[in-house]
Amino acid sequence: MFDQSDLEIYDRITLPKSLKIPERSRLYSLKPIGIGTPSTESLSSHLTRLAEEHCLPLKKLVLGEIAPRIFSDQYQPEMLLKSVSSILGNSDAKPAINGMRDMTRSLVDALEQLTLREDLKYLSCLTYKEIIKERGLFRQNKAWCPKCFQQWVLEHKSIYEPLLWSFKDVNFCLKHSCQLSNRCPHCDSPQKAIANHSRLGYCDRCKQWLGNNLNDELEIADKERQILAGIGELIATTPDLDSPPTLPDIIQKLKLIQFFFERSLRQDLTQFIALGKTLEQLKIAITQHQDKPLNLVGLLIPICSLAKISVDQLMKEDVSSISKILEINFKNPIQKNSKRSSLASMFNRRT
Ligand SMILES: [Zn+2]
Ligand SMILES: [Zn+2]
Repeated sequence: MFDQSDLEIYDRITLPKSLKIPERSRLYSLKPIGIGTPSTESLSSHLTRLAEEHCLPLKKLVLGEIAPRIFSDQYQPEMLLKSVSSILGNSDAKPAINGMRDMTRSLVDALEQLTLREDLKYLSCLTYKEIIKERGLFRQNKAWCPKCFQQWVLEHKSIYEPLLWSFKDVNFCLKHSCQLSNRCPHCDSPQKAIANHSRLGYCDRCKQWLGNNLNDELEIADKERQILAGIGELIATTPDLDSPPTLPDIIQKLKLIQFFFERSLRQDLTQFIALGKTLEQLKIAITQHQDKPLNLVGLLIPICSLAKISVDQLMKEDVSSISKILEINFKNPIQKNSKRSSLASMFNRRT
């Protein structure tokens, strides 16, 4: 029989009065994939995974939790009839929900409030709004590497879409040396960046799996590699920046690069073949358009490549550090940038 006198009596525990329970988030604080690497997840991918974690269709999550915060007073019941893509303004004319539009900012703010995360801005290109021209930079519909999807499912990893795949000029996967796909292999449909019932790795229309190992291995041209590397560096370095880069700051660094290009030409005229065209474009950008955002793929990436600095150095380093780097690079033009050569291995990292 149970005897109460056998029970051991413990000392009384007094909790400190200041004990605080951390604030609870309204939605699950889902950790984004790959932040700080070129394989950083895109905002639309994170939003879609968040809906999956809550076992909700994407449209329900957007209408129930996100749209009321974004539109507040202007939130109207008629929105229930619209597609999630048009609610978030991701129309054919303005497709770049992962880019740098005002709606991207509103979506990031709403999601950061709902999840109590502070790192969701890194899943878009908002940081570069002042310095990089948005027009023509992002694709209208999704592109994806079917081999990446297939590999992740075999390795029991989360299926997601890297921000890199949102860029119009990214047409290849460096990891699998294959072309990205942009139509469902089963029903030939293009895929919207966000759709009412988006499920990552599956077709919006026929609901079948988009992963496979069919895409051939290709020799990727140096120019394509240069673009992939440059955009990857830009994405990877975003969380390391103390504040968004400003146009006057970038123009100052470009003027410095112009000085080294011109000095190099004075010393060796044969350099004109390599530097001439880009130098002209650089001069025009500095003198005529210095109040306008700059072309990433057509100007900044080729300039960095010719100056043998990485895009993240251009964004992150101050003028005096860049000057020291350029002084070394232009003393010995053959010297390769070690950061650039290690980029292929960076693409294989995801955290
Ligand atoms: Zn791949
Ligand atoms: Zn399909």
